[in-house]
Amino acid sequence: MIRLNKNPNIKINSEINYYFNPDFVYIPINSQILVKQNESITKGQFVTSNLESPISGVAMGIKNMQIEKNMQKCLVIANDYKEISKNKKIKMRQITIDKIIKILTENHEEKLLKKFKNQNRFDRIIISAINDEPYVYNNIFILKENISDLLMIIDHLSLIYKSDNNYLIIKNNEANIINECLNVIGTYPNIKLTLVNDEYLLGKEEFIVKKLKVENSKNLYLEVEDLNILANYLLGKDNSTKLITISGDAILENKTILTKKNVMLLDIIKKYIKIIEKQYIVIINGLMCGYEIVTMDKFIVTNNINSINIIKPPIYKTTECINCGKCIEICPKKVNPINLQNVKNCINCGLCSYICPCFINLKKRLEKGKNYE
Ligand code: SF4
Ligand code: SF4
Repeated sequence: MIRLNKNPNIKINSEINYYFNPDFVYIPINSQILVKQNESITKGQFVTSNLESPISGVAMGIKNMQIEKNMQKCLVIANDYKEISKNKKIKMRQITIDKIIKILTENHEEKLLKKFKNQNRFDRIIISAINDEPYVYNNIFILKENISDLLMIIDHLSLIYKSDNNYLIIKNNEANIINECLNVIGTYPNIKLTLVNDEYLLGKEEFIVKKLKVENSKNLYLEVEDLNILANYLLGKDNSTKLITISGDAILENKTILTKKNVMLLDIIKKYIKIIEKQYIVIINGLMCGYEIVTMDKFIVTNNINSINIIKPPIYKTTECINCGKCIEICPKKVNPINLQNVKNCINCGLCSYICPCFINLKKRLEKGKNYE
């Protein structure tokens, strides 16, 4: 595992900006639409079979927008800025295993549901506040904002799932949050604050459980961001927002923004970001694992978007491999990115491209290789 080099000039302001009043939100239509044109909508109301509106307002119609890598039809909702909602708060003592499953099922939280379904007991709960990608701090910011609630929920989960060993994992260079955690965590003797080095890939379950030497037990592994979604449902709090980090050497100032979900990226950029370079590229979800988008025009910040890097175009070469073998040596999954041996094991971590002294874009080569398989 290695520590990634970071540009010392790219510093994220510790202040969060709040983008809670978009004029419009765009809900991807993956399932049946449940509302009619001009219908009034409350915040949190399901507008398709599996997605709810993050604002209250009026259904306007359908528009083609970019959802992650593809164009997709979206339901456009105009904001009425009233935040009318019907969410009900659940009392803490009422939280049971059945309630958790019910809430996650009702809210179509498939990723979280997978972790809890058919489980009555965990050996340990592992909560990770690590973000692997350079200049992405979502988990640590969310932890900082919600530390008391999150520790309370971990404690409650450990009681109902009878897990005695519970870890809250933080990088050892996050001094501020470590002190805040130490102040509160004393009241929860069953939660162990665990500090790890700032090494790439420790933010992935597979690698952190190996590091903790607990890969062979029944673990509940959650990133802070996922735990926060669950906590918000359980505590009847707002789940209509999403934290994103916007950074890079092509912008004046790097920012962390808590935004309503499903807003247009360009609206956020216009409001908060000054682009200072004529030539730049936009990378979604991290310099190591992320993907480039051609234009920000129609791109929607959905629940799966964590970060936006706006950077000067990198210089890649396409030939001149000097056969140094570094890309093979560094691969944690024993893939050979040159002859594409074992390419199906590739986890798209980007380490091979990162380490290549000739700046060869191995990520692109791997993507092509995967498509041929
Ligand atoms: S081949 Fe895949 S898994 Fe291996 S270093 Fe490259 S991106 Fe990571
Ligand atoms: S790291 Fe780059 S130069 Fe070295 S073997 Fe791999 S592709 Fe070739």
